[in-house]
Amino acid sequence: MKAVSNPQTIQTVAVVGAGTMGHGIAQVAAGAGYKVILHDVDRDTLAHGIQAIERNLAKGIQLAKLTEADRAQTLEHIHGTIYLEKISQADLVIEAVPERLELKQAILREAESVNNKQFIFASNTSSLSITEIAKASERPEQVVGMHFFNPVHVMRLLEIVVGKATSAETVEVVRDVGRRMRKEPIVVNDVPGFASSRLGVALGLEAMRMLEQGVASASDIDKAMELGYNHPMGPLKLTDLVGLDVRLNIAEYLHRALGSETFRPPEVLRRMVDEGKLGKKSGEGFYNWKEGNEDAPESPSGRTAWGGERLARSS
Ligand code: NAD
Repeated sequence: MKAVSNPQTIQTVAVVGAGTMGHGIAQVAAGAGYKVILHDVDRDTLAHGIQAIERNLAKGIQLAKLTEADRAQTLEHIHGTIYLEKISQADLVIEAVPERLELKQAILREAESVNNKQFIFASNTSSLSITEIAKASERPEQVVGMHFFNPVHVMRLLEIVVGKATSAETVEVVRDVGRRMRKEPIVVNDVPGFASSRLGVALGLEAMRMLEQGVASASDIDKAMELGYNHPMGPLKLTDLVGLDVRLNIAEYLHRALGSETFRPPEVLRRMVDEGKLGKKSGEGFYNWKEGNEDAPESPSGRTAWGGERLARSS
């Protein structure tokens, strides 16, 4: 058996789940020169994932951030499949399936049953414990968190989450892989919310409480952070992009796990989720995201932070 002991041994990266995050991870891995196997159980999602990569690459060329050669190389390196057995040659498996512990553990077990190599298993979980996920593994020292951010090809942060059993070698390898993918890795212990969600969710929930108390309008609360603290996007807009239902789940989990009132979900969040106001994906959240709206917030680089879509203030 081949041991994954240094970064050079990573040649093939398998990404399991080709949804919002998985296709982006596949794109940056292929762009870094790795051979990529992109697996999803759903044939349509897989096709959509690959189309999304093609669109991202075309946009990159339009913006002169990529060349035709980069596009060709990235696409050439990605092989889509609906068969999990095809990940048998991967040196690194990154899962981006829905946020359910049993599902992630099942993927880990299946991956170990079809792949005899000493591969590293990385989870893109945004809130689950890496230590818990690793309990399904025969080699928990090679299980780690690689928490990417949405959209993956744009966002620079990579949060590497170190479980109780994760080895120092595993952390070093994925740190190097992350850098090759042009990400800026930070290393965080396996605590609820890691570093990013704990801070980001606390800010978002406080912004909602301020809205409930009538401190200011949604757009003025967001501007306080955008213009006063140089955040590229205010906490309420960001909640709309992430999804209010997703944020509610994370808040409930952090409230339970950390026992802190900071994370108690505000009434307005529960009510909006009940009413189906989930943010951008449902067309309405703290803002109105329906077609034809102007006034898109801009990132400091002058581009809209999520790919050019339009936003208007809700009344
Ligand atoms: P998603 O629903 O867009 O994609 C999940 C994909 O997994 C789907 O395409 C689904 O068909 C596929 N899938 C389901 N079961 C599978 C299986 N058994 N084998 C293979 N594929 C399977 O979800 P997402 O938003 O990409 O989130 C994936 C993970 O990334 C979650 O753990 C989430 O917490 C985390 N995450 C999400 C974001 C975000 O902004 N969306 C950011 C960071 C981390």
